[in-house]
Amino acid sequence: MNIPNPKEIEKEIADFLSKKYGNQVKIVSPIVMPQEKKTEEEKKGDVNRESINFDLKPEELIAYLDQYIIKQNAAKRILSTKICTHFNRIRHQQRNDLDPGGFHGQIKNNIIMIGPTGVGKTFMIKLIAQKIGVPFVKGDATKFSETGYVGGDVEDLVRDLVRESDNDIELAQYGIIYIDEIDKIASSQGHYGADVSRTGVQRALLKPMEETEVEMKVPHDPISMIQEVEQFRKTGKREKRSINTKNILFIVSGAFSHLQEIIKKRTMDQGIGFGARITLSEDESDILRQTRSEDLIEFGFESEFIGRLPVKSVFEKLTENDLYEILVNPNNPIILSKRLDFATYGIDVRFSDEALKIMAKRACRENTGARGLVSVIEQALIAFETRLPSTKIKQFPVTTEVIDNPENTLNRWLSGEGITEKDEDFEVILTECRSNLIDYLRNNRKKLSEQYSLPLSEYRIGRIADYYHANVVEIGTAIAEIRSFYDQVKRIEIRFYNKHDLNIVLEEDAIDFISEHMEKQSLNIDQIYHKLSDDFEYGLKLLREKTGKNRFFISKYALENPEAYLNQIITNELQKHGTGDSSLSNDAELSDLLSCLDAGPET
Ligand code: ADP
Repeated sequence: MNIPNPKEIEKEIADFLSKKYGNQVKIVSPIVMPQEKKTEEEKKGDVNRESINFDLKPEELIAYLDQYIIKQNAAKRILSTKICTHFNRIRHQQRNDLDPGGFHGQIKNNIIMIGPTGVGKTFMIKLIAQKIGVPFVKGDATKFSETGYVGGDVEDLVRDLVRESDNDIELAQYGIIYIDEIDKIASSQGHYGADVSRTGVQRALLKPMEETEVEMKVPHDPISMIQEVEQFRKTGKREKRSINTKNILFIVSGAFSHLQEIIKKRTMDQGIGFGARITLSEDESDILRQTRSEDLIEFGFESEFIGRLPVKSVFEKLTENDLYEILVNPNNPIILSKRLDFATYGIDVRFSDEALKIMAKRACRENTGARGLVSVIEQALIAFETRLPSTKIKQFPVTTEVIDNPENTLNRWLSGEGITEKDEDFEVILTECRSNLIDYLRNNRKKLSEQYSLPLSEYRIGRIADYYHANVVEIGTAIAEIRSFYDQVKRIEIRFYNKHDLNIVLEEDAIDFISEHMEKQSLNIDQIYHKLSDDFEYGLKLLREKTGKNRFFISKYALENPEAYLNQIITNELQKHGTGDSSLSNDAELSDLLSCLDAGPET
């Protein structure tokens, strides 16, 4: 039997429906069929991939990062700007069908990040890649020099991008490659043997960082060989598959210890007096921010290598208070993952403010930035994670007591002691968390309202907080959830227009009033729509007819007092009438209108 194509199927279903139901039933939306997969060649012709957010502006990206990342404002600014420009430049060239090379010597915005471990370097790049919708891979420069197969390793990262993009070579060609511990491939005087391989790694990176073709198939990689066979089976063609690295953004990073000494020395030597000033200020990141290419060359990099990294960005060390801020940020993945881990056993874990402060203090001592937080939390909770799932305990308050004496607390609970206090603590923490979240939403009201196109009224803030606490989600997900509810209510306006030909605008307080009603009385949107129709359809139509007014703003007051609202519109018209400004021609018409409204619709 021949398999019909989508158009034929659609026609067959339409015929069937019209035979069975006559003309009453029709297919209104076209049936969506899976798209036939495009070949790689066809894909290369796509200039504006929908999945990539090429239109992003630097400030939008900064605002997005602000929701997740504490401090690092300078890095947020530089990275957002340069990465947005990188992608917008590609889009500009594609839209204008410019020669992809643009002009000779065009320099890619590859980036070098300087900063200690655990301060948000990887996190920031991951968030940016996610927001833009491009694949991201991370590698380690020390691995390159160890294997002695440098070129192959760098190319493996390029191929990993293809895997990250579900085998979509076109998408992979816009990916981001992040190489950490780049300072380990700087040469240093006195270790000649090691220097050769380090310099070798730098050289091997030069071409991919600029532009080169990387073959998908490699003899040493069985996966790539299997994919090649798979591709052949699918297409019947043995095509050459390769990735061009021209649009791939390279970001390298490292801690660069001792770099500040080089900078200090330079500024002293240059006699600009800066050295003296920075010795006094002692702020490491202030010094590092003065990094010039010549300092990095002095550090042990080849000038060609540094030349391909025109953007420099310095990440600050995080203080104990920063670590605490990270923990209380409602989007923080460390706390959210822990909540999720326990939620998988049906256990609700909540952290008291005091407990978070202690954890920040302990993590700070580890000197590994926010990474310390993960290990401190793991250490504190591991025993509970092992034992609580087999008990009836479903509410787990992490208090200072839990952090200070984990074993003791756990044993008491397991023997049934202190359960009432535990439950009380849990309630207290829950209230504390909710009020912290409400403060956060209030403090960021303007930004979040803009970002999610939802004016955050007090009522909505309350609902977002409720949703956030009932689910393990980021704040954006909670706002989006409340927004979808808001949109649903807003659609009543369109329904009113389509059904009654009446142009109403639900004011913000009216939308909240409706939402609250729906929630408290378990009403659905249809019921609300019918109630509104009952209250306003007749009166508004009459008003429109008599006054020529055709747009009505419905506030909370109007919803609560429909009659008074309608009367008020008439009174306003009456006043205008006094000034000769009304569309009502005489008083008789007005009193007629008022009596019609009183009488209501004919039944
Ligand atoms: P690195 O700077 O070594 O790349 P990461 O970005 O991997 O460090 O940080 C590890 C984790 O610590 C991140 O996944 C994130 O949860 C948290 N973190 C680190 N820095 C910050 C920060 N500035 N703001 C918020 N969270 C952070």
